[in-house]
Amino acid sequence: MLEITKENIEKAIEKARATKPKVKVLEFRRYAVTNKTTGANYEVKFYKIGNQKFADCTCPATKVCYHIGASIGAHIVLAEQMSRQTV
Ligand SMILES: [Zn+2]
Repeated sequence: MLEITKENIEKAIEKARATKPKVKVLEFRRYAVTNKTTGANYEVKFYKIGNQKFADCTCPATKVCYHIGASIGAHIVLAEQMSRQTV
């Protein structure tokens, strides 16, 4: 499980913008990310523990990768929708 910080997620989002992978929502907090060039497909999961955010990706990277950067945009939108529904 990798902790998401402001610094590492910014880098991951930058990389995702350059790579432009395809993000598919599997369910809330679970995303499938496909590299359009290589066809490689990985699964990203988000967790929240207290005020800290964590993510897991099935790719071999050992730090916050661009798959996480690509899916966090969709995740933030969904999380906002969910929180509005529960209010
Ligand atoms: Zn990854």
